[in-house]
Amino acid sequence: MTPPVVPREAGNGPACYQGYLEGALVTGWFHPLESRGGSATLEDSTGYSTLRGGRRASGVDVTFRAMACAIGAFRPVAARPPAKQEETKRMTITYDKLFIGGDWTSPSSDRTITVVGASTEEIIGSLAEAQEADVDAAVDAARTAFDDPNGWSNWEPGRRAEVMERFADALDSRAEEIAQRVSAQNGMPIAISSAFEATFPAALLRFYANVARTMTTEEERAGLLGGTITVRRDPLGVVGAIVPWNFPQSLAAFKYAPALAAGCTLVMKPSPETSLDMGLVADAAAEAGLPAGVINIVPGGREVGAYLVSHPRIDKVAFTGSTGAGRAIAEVCGRMLRPVTLELGGKSAAIILDDADLDLATVGEKLFQNTMLNQGQTCFMGTRILAPASRYDEVVDTFAALASSLTIGDALDPGTQIGPMASSAHRDRVEGYIAKGKAEGARLVLGGGRPKSRDKGWFVEPTIFADVDNKFTIAQEEIFGPVLSVIKYNDDEEAVRIANDSEFGLGGSVWTRDPARGFGVATRVQTGNIGINGFVPDPSSPFGGVKASGLGTELGPEAVHHYQQIKSIYKQ
Ligand code: NAD
Repeated sequence: MTPPVVPREAGNGPACYQGYLEGALVTGWFHPLESRGGSATLEDSTGYSTLRGGRRASGVDVTFRAMACAIGAFRPVAARPPAKQEETKRMTITYDKLFIGGDWTSPSSDRTITVVGASTEEIIGSLAEAQEADVDAAVDAARTAFDDPNGWSNWEPGRRAEVMERFADALDSRAEEIAQRVSAQNGMPIAISSAFEATFPAALLRFYANVARTMTTEEERAGLLGGTITVRRDPLGVVGAIVPWNFPQSLAAFKYAPALAAGCTLVMKPSPETSLDMGLVADAAAEAGLPAGVINIVPGGREVGAYLVSHPRIDKVAFTGSTGAGRAIAEVCGRMLRPVTLELGGKSAAIILDDADLDLATVGEKLFQNTMLNQGQTCFMGTRILAPASRYDEVVDTFAALASSLTIGDALDPGTQIGPMASSAHRDRVEGYIAKGKAEGARLVLGGGRPKSRDKGWFVEPTIFADVDNKFTIAQEEIFGPVLSVIKYNDDEEAVRIANDSEFGLGGSVWTRDPARGFGVATRVQTGNIGINGFVPDPSSPFGGVKASGLGTELGPEAVHHYQQIKSIYKQ
């Protein structure tokens, strides 16, 4: 028997393990209660079993191995009893002030945003809604902080890095609360928010703190025409950062972490659906000693965002959201000649080559991660499944089996793999696409409705369409829900052609037992990011879209360049 592998220290919250119970492979979320020297005591969060030191409580031998990435229990290959109905933690959170200039300040009006939980349809909090006057105050604070000759933008990068690391520590100490707020608001399964939203921002801050320490901001060059030229990379200025609701913490950090490393200051506008979690970011920034005005937060809707984008006293816009909003923002920035990075929508292809391993026991987790993560409300999902004609039915069956094995539930339940849509309006939109798919002649293989087990919450069943033509609306437009379209192709050439027959170019994946062949196909797909047998965006490497999926990139050391201004100083 292989000894257990425990990926985290005891007490760090749930982690995902896969292992053998009485000879059958099972996957589940477990709370590490104790881990010492290769043995562990684990409690299955479903209440099904307790594993002790490689032995089940009953004394039956088990082996288990940690999953590389704590995504969730997605594949009950052994029969498992239904998850215990747990009373999940409810919350009511109120913010009557706005975080501006390093402090919680009174807003200019008494207007508020009411936040409703996606799983429960109950009010879970309310917060002050920023108005134009508040955006003006936030921009003023960011401007003052940026222009201070002894301030943040003029600090040695190493000094900024120290504060960024303290900021990361302060976020870590709030990780559990961050995950809970995100999940309660937008319906992201807590397993996913714990693995990503609660950890990625701190990891990014530490990554960019390192970049700050090692980056070159000044370079001497011998001029071709004589003399010497100093080429500088100065901090760009005040950044207006606009964030969507799907991964509110990570996508905010995609912007503030490199911006802080560069020496910029920010005014951040979260989505109205997910602003409660940003209060914790404000508290962490203050606790870490980020100077007043370096980060300011103005919760509000589209109008507040539009006002910020066109504000005369900011220097750059960093936006993640829909392609429609991105185009509107690009027009304003174009007119104002204002630098902008745009991370927009996607309709990526998951290309299953004819030699792909379709055994869910080996590839199920990665297929889930790349097609349905966060019930499809993830920009880089491969929602067009391109299947070879020779294995078409097998591919359809595989995705139907994967989708039907997923546990639908309250986002705060650790066993949940598929939570609700983030808002009622968004569920309507997703359901509209499902209706369109049927009307255009696609074959509904699985799902298509609302799960009968849920009487509250904006749930949509995982849905698989077969016999989809790439010209159908469901294959061309971003649905942003748990809806996959399986499209037939005849050879690799045609697969690449269909993959590229899209307005978008953000993510994608190629599934094959031959990595070299997969790499060859991947190089021909017009996209900003693609994985061979799956991927999750990695902080080390640029992430961005082509075509209608965006302009510029985030992540990787390169992202710092988007927050710097190049200046050449000639010395004769
Ligand atoms: P959205 O475009 O409706 O809103 C995003 C943010 O922009 C919100 O804060 C919103 O209030 C604000 N906003 C909307 N219109 C604006 C305008 N004209 N000016 C300024 N601000 C404006 O998008 P959403 O529904 O919140 O998020 C889902 C979308 O985000 C999907 O299309 C998804 O693909 C995309 N997304 C892209 C990436 C990426 O990295 N490419 C990542 C996550 C999400």
